[in-house]
Amino acid sequence: METKRFETEVIHKGYHALQHHGSLSPPIFQTSTFVFDTAETGASRFAGEQEGYIYSRLSNPTVAMLEERIASMENGEKGLAFGSGMAAVSAILIGLTKTGDHVLCSEGVYGCTFGLLQLMEEKFHITHDFHPMHNEESIRAAITDHTTVIYIESPINPTMKLVDLEMVAGVAKEYGIPVVVDNTFSSPYLQRPLDLGCDVVIHSATKYLCGHGDVIGGLAVGSKELMSHLAMTTQKDIGGVMSPFDAWLLLRGIKTLPVRMDRHCENAKKLADLIKEHPAVEKVLFPGDTDFPQYELANKQMRNAGGLISFEIKGDKAAAQKFMNSLKLTKIAVSLGDAETLIQHPATMTHAVVPEENRMKMGITDQLLRLSVGLEAWEDIWSDLQQALNQV
Ligand SMILES: *Cc1c(COP(=O)(O)O)cnc(C)c1O
Repeated sequence: METKRFETEVIHKGYHALQHHGSLSPPIFQTSTFVFDTAETGASRFAGEQEGYIYSRLSNPTVAMLEERIASMENGEKGLAFGSGMAAVSAILIGLTKTGDHVLCSEGVYGCTFGLLQLMEEKFHITHDFHPMHNEESIRAAITDHTTVIYIESPINPTMKLVDLEMVAGVAKEYGIPVVVDNTFSSPYLQRPLDLGCDVVIHSATKYLCGHGDVIGGLAVGSKELMSHLAMTTQKDIGGVMSPFDAWLLLRGIKTLPVRMDRHCENAKKLADLIKEHPAVEKVLFPGDTDFPQYELANKQMRNAGGLISFEIKGDKAAAQKFMNSLKLTKIAVSLGDAETLIQHPATMTHAVVPEENRMKMGITDQLLRLSVGLEAWEDIWSDLQQALNQV
């Protein structure tokens, strides 16, 4: 089938109803193992001589549909599904490194990715450095003889700083180092790192891709060669795979990704402008704000600014917590990308594991809050935020 537009592929790619009794919705192959017609068939599947399923930790038809769909959405060759975003991050990072290697990482990554890099250093002597990645020269200077991965989050959680993906991919090519991008905050609808020259994309599918707050899952996309290798090593042998039911929920959620993202972005833009003007607010960090230092870069590499807004309340931690406790519609919860508007306090929640000194360097102060703008009417979200801000 020829490739269609993004909005069409998210609904159809990887599923052929007439091969499944005409069922409009794809079947959930809720099975652990697959029956071989003969001993020889089993032998040739294990030998890789014959296509076909063996065991659901290796591959499952419902999960494979999702893998084909995400590969198409990121414009890559092959997708892999994992039991969580962190299962994807760890399978990719461990798969691309060995003892003695070095990972160059953008500043202010997801808290558990920070934890994983520490663990890899302690257990396997795989070192890492955090780097702002703001210009080519400083990246060249930070690359060592042992650097085997450049790992980027953009926008960076929760400060919304951006990294110029095309620029970093250009430098990495000079050295033949693969660039891995955690694209969770944007989803492939807003940003496609592979199109900008990066090599692997990772998602916490738990967030925008699912969109309904009912699945923990991870996805990764890259070249057929690399992904097939990872499928047979860190994915299969560490074993953090996705269940068929979760894959089915994700296939369902993904169908509405473009319409949901449009609304998330529209609501966030309206709310960011209003939050910025409120006297109880110190500053707003939102890539769609014309005063945002990297507004131009956001326009260059993202289709729209996304649904996440970070902002600092005037005052201290107590003021931030008082504001949160005054909210009624907005829910206090980590995670993002759901229909419900969610707020969290990075310093004591998602980034509590990061030592205070690093946290301050990253710009994660005690007054910083991160809002995941939901799909409710923006007027109702604003009424809620406003009444809580008025109490600070
Ligand atoms: C949530 C998140 C992760 C981890 O994903 P899980 O599905 O919770 O394991 C990784 N990166 C980013 C940017 C995230 O927001």
